[in-house]
Formats: sequence, structure tokens, C-alpha cells
Amino acid sequence: MNLPVGKSSEIIPVAEPLIGDAELKNVTECIRSGWISSLGRYIDEFERGFAEFCNTKYGVATSNGTTALHLALVTLGIGPGDEVLVPSLTFAATANVVAYTGAKPIFVDSEPETWNMSADDLKAKITDKTKAIIVVHLYGHPADMGAICEIANSQNIPIIEDAAEAHGARYRSSRVGSFGLIACFSFYGNKIITTGEGGMLVTSDPNLSARSKHLRDHAMDPKRRYWHDEIGYNYRMTNIQAAIGVAQLEQADFFIARKRDNAALYNSILGESSAITLPPEASWATNVYWMYSILLTSSSRISRDELLARLSENGIGCRPFFYPVHKLPAFQQGGHGEQLAVAEDLSARGLNLPSSVKLSDDDIRRVCAAVLEAV
Ligand SMILES: *Cc1c(COP(=O)(O)O)cnc(C)c1O
Repeated sequence: MNLPVGKSSEIIPVAEPLIGDAELKNVTECIRSGWISSLGRYIDEFERGFAEFCNTKYGVATSNGTTALHLALVTLGIGPGDEVLVPSLTFAATANVVAYTGAKPIFVDSEPETWNMSADDLKAKITDKTKAIIVVHLYGHPADMGAICEIANSQNIPIIEDAAEAHGARYRSSRVGSFGLIACFSFYGNKIITTGEGGMLVTSDPNLSARSKHLRDHAMDPKRRYWHDEIGYNYRMTNIQAAIGVAQLEQADFFIARKRDNAALYNSILGESSAITLPPEASWATNVYWMYSILLTSSSRISRDELLARLSENGIGCRPFFYPVHKLPAFQQGGHGEQLAVAEDLSARGLNLPSSVKLSDDDIRRVCAAVLEAV
């Protein structure tokens, strides 16, 4: 293929980490120290620093976000016979971890305004078997924690926040991660801060923190070597990952500010089109725009999938919204064709545009021009 030389032929990735000298310096120091496994000063520093970032007391670093979520459920004693409420419009891992425990995920529809779990549908789906609620802050926008916490507290059901996409996002003045009994984060390569692969469980409950650490470390008795008082896991993070994490955490506020600036520029250009619904930011929310995401309206000349194809041809990285998890083969419970109208509608019309902190204003203008021309 013959592409014209110059900027417009360059590929703009949908997400790209910003890793620099600070990360390199920490990793070098870590390797020189010999502490490359899961003990070391970077682990302690990252756990303390990230818990503080979330305004929580304890951090438990894990091998990835999925293991953090699984650990949270096991720590709360969730198992066969239990039901766990999860939004359907999320990354599959949110529901997979429920299945790992033998419990049943019950899918909750979205609300059209914030694209997150609907408090009304949540309330309707609570039963005697409901043992936990996993709340997701989708694409960087916090869920309506006021309404959700009120329902959960009135029925004494613990909340686990899946904040994998929303480091630093705020519901009113508080950062996500501080609302649930436990909250889980991911540091995968495309997340707001990254350790390559990695995750963290945060909590302010000393017993839950201690129990999750114990389960993470093979459930081995610290005073009696090779004595395991129950079935444990190895879900630890390495000191090398944490060395990257410490450097990334120092830049978290800068990354979030960049993402918000990028979103403001996108909004100012794309807001002119009646074919596009801009990403939400409720009056009570600070969206961190993990993925800058839009919906196509019925005024669009082309379909969502045609737009994705058109952007890809132009070297612009983009993604469709997640499939609603209740539609995935593993979760079509009894094949009854469960319907969750809002989640299905959002999923069919939504797409993520390039969202990396490395984007220049010119990159964003080029993406917007391609989108506007197509729709
Ligand atoms: C990324 C993500 C996860 C899983 O995190 P990993 O680190 O990839 O295991 C879980 N839930 C949501 C909502 C995510 O976006």
C-alpha cells in the first residue's frame, strides 16, 4: 500500500503508556538490588502510596486486576449458592471472577445518563442470595455511588468497586476506591497508570487487608513455615512491577489532567455534530476519561461498525464498546435470551477513540476530522 508521507500516514493508537526515565531508574535500581521477586521496598512503597491516593488505609498489590477482584470475593467468603450483582456493560473479567468462586453473577442494566449500573435495576435484582455488589466505573466515569451505597447499606450487602478504569475519578469530592468495603484496580498497559501487568486491592478494614494478604500469599502461616490453614493463591505482584508503579503513581495527577484536557478538546469539536453523543460527566462526577468514548445517534449517516472500519483504514486506533456480558456464550444463562435494553443499546452504538496521554492536539483534530467526515 502506498501511503502519503507525513503526519496523516502515522498510526494513532487507541491507547499507549507513557513510560520514561523515572520508571527506568526505579527498575534499574530494583534489579541491581537483587529484590526482583515479590518482596522489596517498591512493593511496600507502591501499596502505601496507592492506598493513600485512594484515601484508603491499606493496599494489597496483586499480579493483575482480575486476581485483585477474585481475591476480594474470596476474602469476603463468596462461594457456591451466592449471587453477586454486576453490571452487564463491563469488561468480562468483572463477571468471570464471580464464576471462579462458584457464585452466580446476576446482571444489572445500565443507566442511559452515565452508562453505569442502574440503581433502580440493582434494587430490583436483590434477593436473599445476594452476597455482594460489584460496581464498575465504566470508561473513567464514576457510578452513582450515593444511590448505590444507600441501597447496599439498607440491605447490609457489601460493595466491591471495580475501579480498573477509573483511577482518580471522583464521586462528589471523594475518589473512587474509597466507597466500597474493598476496591480493585488494574495496572494493565492501557490503564491510567500501568505496571505492565498488575493490580491492587484497597480497603480501610484492617481485617480484610490482613486476610486478603494471607490468601494472596498461599495462605501460609507467617509463624509456621509450610503450614497452610486453607487453600490460598499466589496472586503477588513483583517488586519490578511495583518499581514501575511507584514512578507512574507520581505522574497520576498529570496523566488525569492530560486526559481531561484531551476530552475537552474532543468535546469542543465533536459537540457540533448531532450524530454524536459526547461522553457523560454528571454534575457530581469527575470523569477521568480512561477511554474517550462516544455514542452514535440515529442521525449518523453510517453505522458504528462502518465508522470503526473507516477510522482503522485511516490509521486511527479505535474500539467498539464491550459486549454486554449477559450476551457472551459463557453467561447466557439457560439460553433464555435475557434482555437488558440500555446496556445492549449503549454497547451497539458506542466506540472508544484514541485516548493516550501522548496525543497531541493535532492528533485529536485529525481524529475528529475523520469522525465528522464519516458521520
Ligand atoms: C482491565 C479491567 C479488568 C481486569 O484487569 P486486568 O489487569 O487486565 O486483569 C477488570 N475490570 C475492568 C472493568 C477492566 O477494565
